[in-house]
Amino acid sequence: MNAIDKLSLLAELGQAHCELNHGPGTKAEDWPAVDYIVLPFGYHESGIAEVSARELVIPVCGECRQALLEEEWTLLYCFECASSQWVYRPLAKNNYRHHILWLRGCPHCANEFGGLYFNDFNGLAGEVELVAGLAAKDAA
Ligand SMILES: [Zn+2]
Ligand SMILES: [Zn+2]
Repeated sequence: MNAIDKLSLLAELGQAHCELNHGPGTKAEDWPAVDYIVLPFGYHESGIAEVSARELVIPVCGECRQALLEEEWTLLYCFECASSQWVYRPLAKNNYRHHILWLRGCPHCANEFGGLYFNDFNGLAGEVELVAGLAAKDAA
């Protein structure tokens, strides 16, 4: 994502709401977005040209952003139906180490389970990033 795309996303922050799961009975309008998760899609052909690249952009509120940056929570997010679920690592049966697990298909959309991807916010090119978080760092 280039700087102009980021700026236009940030300009729309005021109208955006968090698209992550806050539990039953909650409304997205109650959770104004303060940042975006950006996940680049696509693959590299012969290590040079990027093919069919697009980006998944998910608005997140302050609480969700905080949880994504801490070590206690792992977010499970389904590409197919955009449903999400938080896992509290100390109580989880599995040993989660990543901040986000991306699912292709989940019980909500009943799509055939097509794989699992994971990401951490480690600042590498091509990794998932937080737009406003990075913008703040660039300005410093
Ligand atoms: Zn949220
Ligand atoms: Zn799903």
